[in-house]
Amino acid sequence: MITGKNYIGQELSASGKTTFTTFDPLTERANPATFYEATEAEIDEAVRLATEAFDKFGKLSGDRKAEFLQAIADEILALDDILIQTYCSETGLPQGRARGERGRTVGQLRAFAELVAESSWVEASIDRAQADRKPIPKPDLRKMLVPLGPVAVFGASNFPLAYSTAGGDTAAALAAGCPVVVKSHPMHAGTGELVASAIVRAAKKTGMPQGVFSNLNSSGIAVGTQLVQHPGIKAVGFTGSIGGGRALFDLASRRREPIPVFAEMGSVNPVVLLPNAVRDRGNEWAKTYASSITLGSGQFCTNPGLLLGLADQNLSTFAETLAEEILKIDPSCMLHPNIRKNYEGNRAKALSQEGLSVLARYDKEVGTNFAGQTVALVDGKRFLEHPVLHQEVFGPYSLIVQCADAEELEQIIAQLEGQLTGTVLAEGDEAKDYDKVISALRNRVGRLIFNGVPTGVEVCASMQHGGPYPASTDSRFTAVGIHSIKRWARPVSYQDWPDALLPEELKEANPLGIRRQTDGIFES
Ligand code: NAP
Repeated sequence: MITGKNYIGQELSASGKTTFTTFDPLTERANPATFYEATEAEIDEAVRLATEAFDKFGKLSGDRKAEFLQAIADEILALDDILIQTYCSETGLPQGRARGERGRTVGQLRAFAELVAESSWVEASIDRAQADRKPIPKPDLRKMLVPLGPVAVFGASNFPLAYSTAGGDTAAALAAGCPVVVKSHPMHAGTGELVASAIVRAAKKTGMPQGVFSNLNSSGIAVGTQLVQHPGIKAVGFTGSIGGGRALFDLASRRREPIPVFAEMGSVNPVVLLPNAVRDRGNEWAKTYASSITLGSGQFCTNPGLLLGLADQNLSTFAETLAEEILKIDPSCMLHPNIRKNYEGNRAKALSQEGLSVLARYDKEVGTNFAGQTVALVDGKRFLEHPVLHQEVFGPYSLIVQCADAEELEQIIAQLEGQLTGTVLAEGDEAKDYDKVISALRNRVGRLIFNGVPTGVEVCASMQHGGPYPASTDSRFTAVGIHSIKRWARPVSYQDWPDALLPEELKEANPLGIRRQTDGIFES
């Protein structure tokens, strides 16, 4: 069933000689399928076809694109058990997680289908001419969002479905009218290949232009590097490490024609534990956070890696309870030996910092690729002195920081790098006494959570998944939810353009019946 080839446009091809396999981290065995590293000629062909396809695809009606997106969702569901089994064999994750992630992937595709079928997402704005305006007449100006062109999408290791081949970036780019060339993640090339086959079937069934989608396999950085530098690629979507995302961002900036790279990278997701919350509900929060830190072996970009509180006896009790609770949880398998190796390396670096004490470290015998959860403690002064402690340790790890007072807490937050999320745990109305702390937090994050956990990212219009660098390379956009479509579009104004030649969205009669702003007033 798994073909182990590259999909160029809508055709199946693999002319390369370099091959690789994927690995089951649970059984520690290589999976049987062989994948072909995309050749330079295949990369070129994929981008050439995407560029040709853009001519037609970029101008398709919302209804036609919606049909395509719905068909992709249907074809993914039709893959049924083979997709679930392949996903599990390449990630070590359980079937429940695979099914949940498939549901999210299909849901995202259908949400974008509805968005583009309705068509108001183009943010049409009209300012009519005033020929008799003095001293100079006002021209007729009409503006809307149009697609950027072919987009390169890098599959993420930690979401083989929802942030990979037909994940959020691909769904949003196709919805905007951008053909997509996926650089498949090598750790789950088989899952990617199956999803690619579903997209190709959907493209054929709905009559999409050849080249609207291609999937390139590779096990090293050469393919991604060439793809980002290709003049035909007009934007990049990425989820992964800061090193990888930054390298691609720099590469894209150095091009003769620089292009945007929307990279979603590391985050420690600070949690502020206000004193009354720790005093009144410390036990409850300790249990809740033990689960959140270990969820999915900590392999979520929203994992709570930093817990900030004010030093007192209640915080010490909270720290002890969290340490006890987290050790009751069975460790789980990480996605890949490399990710486990990174976890151990980054954790060792953090734990070697002076003044840090280890409160909990799971050290019973576990499978080779399992990660032992760890909780450490440090005081605020030391934390400020050792910037290495501010860095993400991707896995089931969290650091508690005991701050001397609210000023130190605020100073620590202000010195953190950009984050996806910031959480405040408060009791009663105590949060109003920490205005400065909360303002500092808002300056550093994309999403503020009150009395909850950062893990669990709802897919909806009001979700902001992105934040100041390095949480993402452009904090003005989200990588989750329907507004993520805006990453793949740019505004164009038509001045004094004949009505018959205008796109439907901007015609005077509003034939699509979309929401527009006309002469400063919103039509509905
Ligand atoms: P990664 O090393 O950033 O790789 C992600 C993708 O980007 C892969 O397809 C990789 O290609 C490609 N890539 C990386 N560096 C590149 C470069 N310099 N030029 C061109 N392409 C490049 O991440 P990963 O392998 O998925 O996971 C490794 C680590 O990333 C994890 O241990 C974790 O620390 C972090 N991570 C963070 C998040 C988050 O949301 N915060 C999510 C996932 C991973 P190849 O694999 O083919 O080389």
